[in-house]
Amino acid sequence: MNYTEIMVRYGELSTKGKNRKDFISRLNGNVTKVMRGLDKLSIRPHRDRMHIQLNGEDYQEVITRLRKVFGIQTFSPSIKVKKDFEEVKKVALEMMQEVYEDGMTFKVNTRRSDHEFELDTNEINLQLGDYIFTNIEGIQAEMRKPDVKLLVEVRQDGIYLSNQVIKGAGGMPVGTAGKAELMLSGGIDSPVAGYLAMKRGVELEMVHFYSPPYTSENALRKAKELTGKLAAYSGPIKFIAVPFTEIQETIKSELPEGYLMTIQRRFMMRLTDLIRERNNGLAIFNGEAVGQVASQTLESMVAINDVTNTPILRPVSNMDKNEIIEIAEDIDTFDLSIQPFEDCCTVFAPPSPKTRPNLEKARFYESKLDVEGLIQRSLDGIVVSTVMPNEEFLTQEDTEINELL
Ligand code: ATP
Ligand code: MG
Repeated sequence: MNYTEIMVRYGELSTKGKNRKDFISRLNGNVTKVMRGLDKLSIRPHRDRMHIQLNGEDYQEVITRLRKVFGIQTFSPSIKVKKDFEEVKKVALEMMQEVYEDGMTFKVNTRRSDHEFELDTNEINLQLGDYIFTNIEGIQAEMRKPDVKLLVEVRQDGIYLSNQVIKGAGGMPVGTAGKAELMLSGGIDSPVAGYLAMKRGVELEMVHFYSPPYTSENALRKAKELTGKLAAYSGPIKFIAVPFTEIQETIKSELPEGYLMTIQRRFMMRLTDLIRERNNGLAIFNGEAVGQVASQTLESMVAINDVTNTPILRPVSNMDKNEIIEIAEDIDTFDLSIQPFEDCCTVFAPPSPKTRPNLEKARFYESKLDVEGLIQRSLDGIVVSTVMPNEEFLTQEDTEINELL
């Protein structure tokens, strides 16, 4: 069909009272960001709807991108016709013919913001319904649960018709909840945690620890490519690569094996928190799930969380692995996550980490290290870049790690 605009219905807005303006202006900004390159579009945010005029851009491309924008409940591709009821009937019939299947039921649903128009809502519903009923053989009217609703909106500048309601991503526009850091590994869980955080309106920055030469370029590429997948939901994302080799080597050579993992994690948490503070983030998100592995028992969380008072949010903490995988598949991160490029934790994982580390012991062992020096040198080596929506890294030619950063 020759759609002329996409009509967008906001999500969860009604409960947000005075934040409505912020919600709408964020959403407007976020839609504009994901539509980058589709220059003919004009995006008009109104109080209860947003109208995206296509002006000749491909509506399917717009829909594909729109599906990933949080804060949208549903949207409908629409056709604008001039305010002439004959014209409305003609286009409406074409639209219904296009989707008609044997035995289909329908209903006409009219809204009117222009009260001057010659016909009122009821008259439009009846006359248009009648016209479609007589011109499509076999179609049935059904008021309660029709297969297709033909939506008619009479506005000042024209009449808008649509017969599809597409489900949006839901949630809140990214940015309305403030900014936070996500600890992003190359695994399955942390990208899902990131997606769930963004869905609640959080703007994320990625913190990724890497340990050359123990971890490969591809491990880093994979983390960046995962970031690209998430950026499709938010626009460009800051990717902060934190060198972790010296810390891991030091811990491994100086501390008892049972505490390697706990203390590595304490360092990761400290570093992430310092980066968060520097960047004015409000919280830290990670992909921990209770009881999934040794580092994710409640005792471990106590021993690791000890290094900060910052809120540590774990969106997947209560989910089963297969529930997490289901989301990972939906957001297209799963296939990437299972590619076998070892990240820094796998390489330095002790064969039998303590599942119930003792907090006092963790503090004691750690105090034998030059914590400040190790942290400072790691911070000094940080490299920051920006990852674009769906940007790919694994397909790049082989490069040095430095070029990749
Ligand atoms: P994931 O699938 O997210 O890697 P996991 O089940 O493999 O999680 P762990 O490897 O124990 O679990 O990691 C727990 C969490 O710690 C991760 O979800 C992530 O938030 C953080 N984390 C682990 N490794 C890294 C890393 N190299 N860089 C940044 N964060 C990390
Ligand atoms: Mg992992």
